[in-house]
Amino acid sequence: MFELFIVAYPWDLPAEDVGGVLDQLRGEVGVSGLSLWVAAPPSAQLRANSRHPRVFRTRGGVFFQPADRHYAQTRCQPIVSSWVTMGNPLATIAKACAGRGLSLRTIVSASAAGRMAERYPEFACKNVFGDESRDRLCLANAEVQTYLRGMALDLSTSAGVTALTLADFDIRWSDADDLHAGASLECVINPSPPPGGEGRVRGFSDALLGPVERSLLAVCFCESCVQRSQSAGIDVEAARRAVEQTVNLAFERGPCEGTPVADFFAEHESLAEHRRRQIEDLNTLLRKLKEACRCDLLLERTAFDSPADAANGLDLSIPSAVITRVDDPARLPTVMPSRARRNELQLSATAAVGPAASRLVGILPDAANAGFAAVEIDHYGLLSESALTTLKQAIRFARRSAVG
Ligand SMILES: [Zn+2]
Repeated sequence: MFELFIVAYPWDLPAEDVGGVLDQLRGEVGVSGLSLWVAAPPSAQLRANSRHPRVFRTRGGVFFQPADRHYAQTRCQPIVSSWVTMGNPLATIAKACAGRGLSLRTIVSASAAGRMAERYPEFACKNVFGDESRDRLCLANAEVQTYLRGMALDLSTSAGVTALTLADFDIRWSDADDLHAGASLECVINPSPPPGGEGRVRGFSDALLGPVERSLLAVCFCESCVQRSQSAGIDVEAARRAVEQTVNLAFERGPCEGTPVADFFAEHESLAEHRRRQIEDLNTLLRKLKEACRCDLLLERTAFDSPADAANGLDLSIPSAVITRVDDPARLPTVMPSRARRNELQLSATAAVGPAASRLVGILPDAANAGFAAVEIDHYGLLSESALTTLKQAIRFARRSAVG
């Protein structure tokens, strides 16, 4: 049967409500289970109207009580969120799911769990200039790998957990995404739009960093990455030079334009080798985590446009399932990785709202017929009563159509 999972954050399922919420999701909407964030990045979320507080803020971290024995071999220790002051939300939710025959998957941000990179700068990704990431641990680091193996064992032996999903499974100095280097105002609100005209008008964009420069700055040159590449005989200094020279050139000529990111890597052999080595390390880690995990190990990825993105180099046949996040469902047939053992789709909750809602009723049957085994909706805190009703109709159509 085509399955429906709802992504949820623990604060959307407080102990006093969890039974009622799950009864509704199972009985009325027809969900197969929950995908619960248990090691999450920082966030500030506006939530649907029935929830309080309306804005929930967290610095992230882990949202369960880790068992110390699983982390005894590493200096990298999980940071328990201050929200988990009493009790163990994971245990409460797991028990409630099990009592209703619902699967419970736990989602772990492998590299970006809140406050980890700040507390352990020595384990963080570093860009070519030696700047330590504020939000990403480097997954090539042995201490980080041991911490993740511990967490895989910890969660997968925790009562009621049926699967573990890895998110943010990449080696990236992700601070490059919002690095400020000149104005980049893409559009501004027009205070007095002409009648029938656009409320937004194009502004100016003269940032010094384009997609090539940002991709290069995202390449990790931490001690672990440098050492691993050097022992593999890769000319790391040449890789560094390629990044530095391109970024420096942007300050004289503006960003490198007209060269796709993939082509740039192809033209700089050492850099491409350094990146390939990182992806090989990720594949090795993925295998180790699968071995450590006592339940199914799933991998979440985004359907990228660029063939240079790391997720495209990962061996997608390793995890038990690959969950591909799609922002434009029109691209559905092109996003399914053929190597995966099982394919699932992830859609934003906005797919069940407004004009998109009527399309969702068509999209889910298409997904089921295209071979996707499940859809995950991200996330419960955003779903209003009417969005839940839409979801219920869409999943019924999909199940009927998949059977027929
Ligand atoms: Zn690194």
